[in-house]
Amino acid sequence: MARVDLDGKPIKPMTICMIGAGGFIGSHLCEKLMSETPHTVLALDVYSDKIKHLLEPDSLPWAGRITFHRLNIKHDSRLEGLIKMADLTINLAAICTPADYNTRPLDTIYSNFIDALPVVKYCSENNKRLIHFSTCEVYGKTIGSFLPKDSPLRKDPAYFVLKEDESPCIFGPIEKQRWSYACAKQLIERLIYAEGAENGMEFTIVRPFNWIGPRMDFIPGIDGPSEGVPRVLACFSNNLLRGEPLKLVDGGQSQRTFVYIKDAIEAVLLMIENPARANGHIFNVGNPNNEVTVRQLAEIMIKVYSKVSGEPLPETPTIDVSSKEFYGEGYDDSDKRIPDMTIINKQLGWNPKTSLWDLLESTLTYQHRTYAEAIKKVIAKPVAS
Ligand code: NAD
Ligand code: UDP
Repeated sequence: MARVDLDGKPIKPMTICMIGAGGFIGSHLCEKLMSETPHTVLALDVYSDKIKHLLEPDSLPWAGRITFHRLNIKHDSRLEGLIKMADLTINLAAICTPADYNTRPLDTIYSNFIDALPVVKYCSENNKRLIHFSTCEVYGKTIGSFLPKDSPLRKDPAYFVLKEDESPCIFGPIEKQRWSYACAKQLIERLIYAEGAENGMEFTIVRPFNWIGPRMDFIPGIDGPSEGVPRVLACFSNNLLRGEPLKLVDGGQSQRTFVYIKDAIEAVLLMIENPARANGHIFNVGNPNNEVTVRQLAEIMIKVYSKVSGEPLPETPTIDVSSKEFYGEGYDDSDKRIPDMTIINKQLGWNPKTSLWDLLESTLTYQHRTYAEAIKKVIAKPVAS
C-alpha cells in the first residue's frame, strides 16, 4: 500500500542530506528512514561507528539507499554539492554536551553558529528545504525561577511552561559561559527564521527536550575518553555499570522532562514527510509527562538498573558534588523544562507515548548488554605501578 502523508497524499521518495548522521539522534533517524521509508540518505559525519550496522554488509535490504560521506563541515568543499543533490537537508551537527559549554566556549560557539552558517546559506541559495536542530536550552531559565522561593506563582504553568511563540529566552550573564551554547543556537535560529522571512527559505526548527535512549554519547574509558563528561544518561549509566555512587550536581534539584528517542524520531519523520504542515514552524519535541528532578532520575535509574542487571541495590546510591567541582568555572543550569505541546499537536498530531520507567528499562537493558562485560574487564585489570 502506498504510504500517505497526514493529508492523505502519497509520499514521494526523497533524498535527504543528513549532517551529523553518525551521532545519537542521527543514528536513530537513519535506522527509521531505512527500515520504514523509501527515502535515500546521504549521511555526513566525521564518525560512523553508530551507523556501522546500517552501512555494512551490502546485502542489507536498504543497500544503496544510504551512503556515508566522512567529512568535517568546517572545511570541506563537498558540502554544497551534497546539499544540492538532496531534496531536504537535516542539520544535526553540533557540540552539545554541557561539560563543553563552559570549558570550550569557542569551539561551542563555532560549532553551533559559525559552522552552521554555510549550511543555511547553501540551502537558501539553492532553494532547498532545511530542518535544523536547535535545543530547548534556547529558553534558558524559566520566568518562575526569578520569583521568591515561596511564591505561589511558581506553581502556575504561566511561569514555567515553555512556548515556542511566546516564551522569552532568558540566559545568565556572559561570565557564566554555560550559555554560550544556548546563545549560539538562538542566533542561528534567528538567522534561519530571517532567511525564511526575507528570502522565502523553507525551514523547520526542532527544539529537543532531553531525548534519551540507546547509543547516547559514550561510556568514559570504554568508547570515549576516560576523563570525558557526557550528558546525564551516560554519566549515570557509567556510575551504575561501575558500581559507583551517582553524582548529583548541586544536589540534583534541577528538573527535566525526558522523552524516549524512538517517540521523538516519530515526530521528526512527520516533519520530513509533511512539509506543508512543518515549514515555517519551530517545534518543541519532548514529553511533559515525564518530569523529574535529577535526584529522582538517579533514584529511578538505580532501581531500573538493579532490575535489568540482577545486581543488588547499592549501599551508597548517590553523592552530592558541586557544579564547580564537576563542570568547572562558568557552569550554570536550566531550572525546569516543560514543553508546551500545542503547536506540534495541532500541526502534526504528535504525542509522546513512553513512560520514564519504560524508556529507562529498555535503555538500561541496552547499556548493560553493551557495556557490562567491557567494564568488568577494565575494573579487573591491575593498575600499572
Ligand atoms: P551527537 O553529539 O550524538 O551528534 C552530533 C553529531 O554531529 C556527531 O556524530 C558529530 O560527530 C557530528 N558533528 C559535529 N560537528 C561536526 C562537523 N563539523 N562536521 C561533521 N559532523 C559533525 O548529538 P545528538 O544528541 O545526536 O544531537 C544532535 C542535535 O540535536 C544537535 O544539534 C544538538 O544540539 C541537538 N539537541 C539534542 C538534544 C538531545 O536531547 N539529544 C537536546 C537538545 C538539542
Ligand atoms: N547532572 C548530574 N550528574 C551528572 C551529570 C549531569 O547531576 O553526572 C545534571 C546536570 O547538572 C543537569 C542535568 O543533570 O542539571 C542534565 O544534564 P545533561 O548533561 O543531561 O544536559 P542538560 O539537560 O543540562 O542540557
